[in-house]
This record gives sequence, structure tokens and C-alpha cells, in this order.
Amino acid sequence: MARCLLTGATGQDSFYLAEYLLSLGHKVCGLVRGYNNPREEELRLAMPELEIVYGDLSDQISLLKAIELTQPNEVYNLAAVSAVPISWDQTEMMTDVNALGPARLLRAIIQVGGERNNPIRFFQASSSEMLACTGETQNELTPICPRTPYSCAKAYAHFLVNNYRERYDLHASCGILCSHESKRRTPNFVTKKIAQAAARIKTGTQQNLSLGNLDSGRDWGAATDFVRAYHLILQQPKPGDYVIGTGETHTLRDILDIAFSYVGLDWTKYVTLDPKLFRPWQDKIVKADWSKLRAIGWAPTVTFEGLIQGMVNTSG
Ligand code: NAP
Repeated sequence: MARCLLTGATGQDSFYLAEYLLSLGHKVCGLVRGYNNPREEELRLAMPELEIVYGDLSDQISLLKAIELTQPNEVYNLAAVSAVPISWDQTEMMTDVNALGPARLLRAIIQVGGERNNPIRFFQASSSEMLACTGETQNELTPICPRTPYSCAKAYAHFLVNNYRERYDLHASCGILCSHESKRRTPNFVTKKIAQAAARIKTGTQQNLSLGNLDSGRDWGAATDFVRAYHLILQQPKPGDYVIGTGETHTLRDILDIAFSYVGLDWTKYVTLDPKLFRPWQDKIVKADWSKLRAIGWAPTVTFEGLIQGMVNTSG
């Protein structure tokens, strides 16, 4: 039985990873920030076996205490300010949490576990947003070329994990994550925004939906599939970096087709285009080459259609 510490316990990925790790019989501790987090209650009800510890990626001592208290074998850093657009307005805060946060966590792991033969394995959630769009696919060899403050911070943390791996021989790995969704996604992400709109327009509680470039495409996977990969990566004899995706790309039009046809509506009657929502760098469609991950036994199980329909089902 492993002892696992998950940061970002109230977020999408930690929820599914905690469920998965508990189902494997592991002890799971979730780091929650603040003493009055409105999502903590839901977490406690959903997973009574989950042990909650408090801490903040902006606070070194709290991370040190969390690691000393939980004595984990595996630490999954899934906490972040994950909404990319905010990073333009709150760059300093975003950098503090997403870049310096992992630095603080790594320092705490070395302090507790030692500079050599450290028994704590570490997983960092890096992002495919930091990769260059040079070819049709992105893999672990794709150059890192961030274009937002969010991806700059993720790139810093990614390089730092690689440095700790080398310097301390730490079992520290990164998942380079393409977008992944679930019913727990918040509506500031476009997949959820569309799923929710389809469900609400059907029931008459919403009238229309504003979107940006409908032809912008991504490699979208299911969070429930991705979290299995995080665990698998930490079970490997050697640490490394792995792109996690599906190898398929879909556009916003595809999501609209699936979500609105699922509730029997024609989206063209409800969707308006808002130039403010266009992101200039999203003209290039890329997809993941996840063959390195396939080689260690992972594969996605949820279809894109099933994913979007599931999100519509649980929205409203
Ligand atoms: P999420 O749902 O937005 O969850 C983020 C979590 O981080 C929340 O629990 C949040 O807590 C916590 N958090 C924020 N600031 C914090 C701080 N200062 N100290 C401690 N915790 C803090 O994100 P997700 O979708 O699960 O993503 C997991 C990881 O994968 C993130 O690092 C994200 O950047 C990365 N990623 C995600 C995707 C994707 O498509 N989902 C793609 C690429 C990379 P509160 O409840 O208090 O806000």
C-alpha cells in the first residue's frame, strides 16, 4: 500500500486520481488550500477515506508540514491556477503558484526525504500548451516554446523537475498533458461551456451561446483516463517525461455537433461569434503523439463523443 499526497485536492484531476488510488487500496491524502474552502465539504462527502491536509503552493512551510505529516511515497502535484486567460491579468500570482509552487514542493521533498536515495516519487502536471506547434503532432522531443504566462510558468516547473531528477537522482516525472475534461470541469473551459449551454438551452434556462474561433482544434481526452497515466508513470523503474493525449483532434464545431444533437437541437440557431473570444495562436491544430506512454501500457478508453455526451448529461 502506497501513501500518496495529491495537491489540488478540490480540482478535477485530483478528484479522479484520489478515487482511482483509493480503489487500488492506497492511502490518499489531499492538500486543500484555505481553512474554509467551499469544495472541501463535497470532497469529504464523496470520499470519506480521503485524508485532508491543509497547505498552499505559495507557502513553503505549509508544504513542508504536509509532507512531514503524511510521509508520502508518491506526491502528485496537480494544483495550479489552471485557467490560461487569467495568466495575462495576474501574471505574478500565476507564476508564484504554477512555477514557484512546484519549486517549493520539490525543496520540501528533498528536505524530508534527503538529497540521496530519496524514497519519495514525484509527478508534475506539465502542459502541452508549452510545446511548439511545429509539426502535426507533439511528443516529448517537441521544442518547448511557451506563448502565455501560464505556459511560461509550466515550462519553468517542467525544466526544474528535470533538474531535480538529474541533480538528486530523484524519481521525478512530468506528464505533458493535453486538454482533458470531465463533468467536474468548470464553465470557464469551453467544453463545459458548450455542454452546459446545450443542456440549458434545451430546458429553456439559457437562450444563446457566444464563442470564439469555431475551427480552433485540440486534442481533448478524458480526465478519468489521464489520471491512470499519472499513476502508471510513477510506477516505472525510471522517471521520465510523457506526453498524454489521444492522438485525435476535434474542433469546437465537433463539440457543438455532438452536444446539441445529443439534446435534439441545431446549434447554428443559438451560437454567436464574439471576436473578443478569439485566441490568436489557436489557428494551428496539433495532436499528441503518445507512443512513449503506449509503450508502458496506457491507452485512452473514453471516446470523444462519449466524453462530450457525459458532460451534457451532467450539466444543466
Ligand atoms: P483544476 O480543476 O483547476 O484544479 C486546480 C487545483 O489547484 C484546485 O484544487 C485549486 O484549489 C488548486 N490550487 C490553486 N491554487 C492553489 C494554491 N495556491 N495552493 C494550493 N492549491 C491551489 O485543474 P485540473 O484540471 O485538475 O488540472 C490539474 C493539473 O493539470 C493542473 O496543474 C493544470 O494546470 C494541469 N493541466 C490541466 C489540463 C486540463 O485540460 N485539465 C491540461 C494541461 C495541464 P481551489 O479549489 O482552492 O481553487
